[in-house]
Amino acid sequence: MRKKIIAGNWKMNKTIEEAIELANGLKLDLADCKDVDVVLCPPFTALKSVSDIVSETQIAVGSQNMSSEDEGAYTGEICHTMLKEIFVRYVILGHSERRQYYKENDFWINKKVVKALEKNLRPILCVGETLEDRESGSTEKVVEVQVREGLKDVAAESYTELVIAYEPVWAIGTGKVATAQQAQDVHAFIRGVVKDMVGAEAADAVRIQYGGSMKPDNAVELLGQPDIDGGLIGGAALDATSFAGIVKAAM
Ligand code: PEP
Repeated sequence: MRKKIIAGNWKMNKTIEEAIELANGLKLDLADCKDVDVVLCPPFTALKSVSDIVSETQIAVGSQNMSSEDEGAYTGEICHTMLKEIFVRYVILGHSERRQYYKENDFWINKKVVKALEKNLRPILCVGETLEDRESGSTEKVVEVQVREGLKDVAAESYTELVIAYEPVWAIGTGKVATAQQAQDVHAFIRGVVKDMVGAEAADAVRIQYGGSMKPDNAVELLGQPDIDGGLIGGAALDATSFAGIVKAAM
């Protein structure tokens, strides 16, 4: 039985003061949510403050990116040591906004995934098709390449440590949510790809989140699908009541 995982991607939102307020609110609201893994992913500047607030709770902290390198002359980058120093446990990698605006490709995303696992950080690998891909019937092809390339050289035993987030790009921040059936179909497809890559045990164990305009009112149906193991939440993660509502829907 896979434990559900709900992660909030705060993106480039929240000053330190605002992040502290949101994290304190969630700490109160989600004090007893032991049945669901909850991850907060604030911007880098607020990671330490949020990490301190949730330090003795079930809530974990994640970053929104990580360098594939260990240290050195990589201006603007943040490495695993810096994240682990402040008790970051998860890293979102390959988000569609990074693929689209910063031209991150599967090669670099894979290097980051492999590095994160090597350093005991848990990658949340984001994959998903654009509207154009979906309309041209290429959803499976696009998602399969992202999964195979993104998880290249990852051993079967590591699949319990990583999370795949299926995020159709056309549903991110648009209010246009995939139907539960559309999402379930792609999740089942991804699980099949993982099975083909590393075997049935890893495919059964890996958690696959849905992301794209998930809100408390659509979360129950999405999270009720057999292959949907949680959510990666953008907009609704910026409000304590909405995010807590989604976590409660996963219980
Ligand atoms: C996201 O960017 O990961 C996301 C799912 O955003 P939203 O919930 O706002 O669609």
